[in-house]
Amino acid sequence: MTTIAARLQAVRSRIAAAAGTAGRSPEDIRLIAVSKTFAAAAIQEARAAGQVAFGESYLQEALGKIAVLGPELEWHYVGPIQSNKTRQIAELFHWAHGIDRLKIAERLSSSRPAGRLPLQICIQVNVSGESSKSGVRPDEVFALAQAISFLKGVRLRGLMAIPEPTQDIGLQRARFRQIRELKNEMVSRGIALDTLSMGMSDDLEAAIAEGATLVRVGRAIFGERPSNPG
Ligand SMILES: *Cc1c(COP(=O)(O)O)cnc(C)c1O
Repeated sequence: MTTIAARLQAVRSRIAAAAGTAGRSPEDIRLIAVSKTFAAAAIQEARAAGQVAFGESYLQEALGKIAVLGPELEWHYVGPIQSNKTRQIAELFHWAHGIDRLKIAERLSSSRPAGRLPLQICIQVNVSGESSKSGVRPDEVFALAQAISFLKGVRLRGLMAIPEPTQDIGLQRARFRQIRELKNEMVSRGIALDTLSMGMSDDLEAAIAEGATLVRVGRAIFGERPSNPG
């Protein structure tokens, strides 16, 4: 078994264990392998080990990999989205997780090729309240979701968050719980959401305990990234 295959299996075991502890089914949690900064060969190893969904954050880099590996993989754009990248993201990706403005959602929607399913999107929520981090303030999420619901080329699936890194499991849980409660509140107000995109290499257990349906894991699968990527 390659290192990547072994690590992938270890991550799947962590997901299964965390699901078990939470009384959840592991099948309800999708693993996105975040392959940013890693070469197409690394993705191919993961794919040979059964991984289908991959996450990328740097568009130029992702374009090369998508060209090589083909559209049969499921591509998730997990980085922040600038206006000048929306066309290519709408054409080539299945999901985009970092939606933080209506304008970006509108551009993705209008660029989505006819005949393809809508681009599946998540609104990124800023739960840590750090002004430097991207994401929508919790009190602004509902209005944005309502506006997005009128767009034909995108389908809002849920909320995504990247809380500040901390070793404090209680704080990790509190941040993820906040996102889950926000999603539940939106559902009760009539916005159909089925996705909580939260949890990464260091905090996926806390995220799964709080209801994550999609975890985005990079380093635990592919190894450490160069310190100043892309
Ligand atoms: C890089 C990245 C990840 C993966 O983080 P790891 O700590 O390597 O697991 C997840 N989500 C987003 C948005 C990222 O940019």
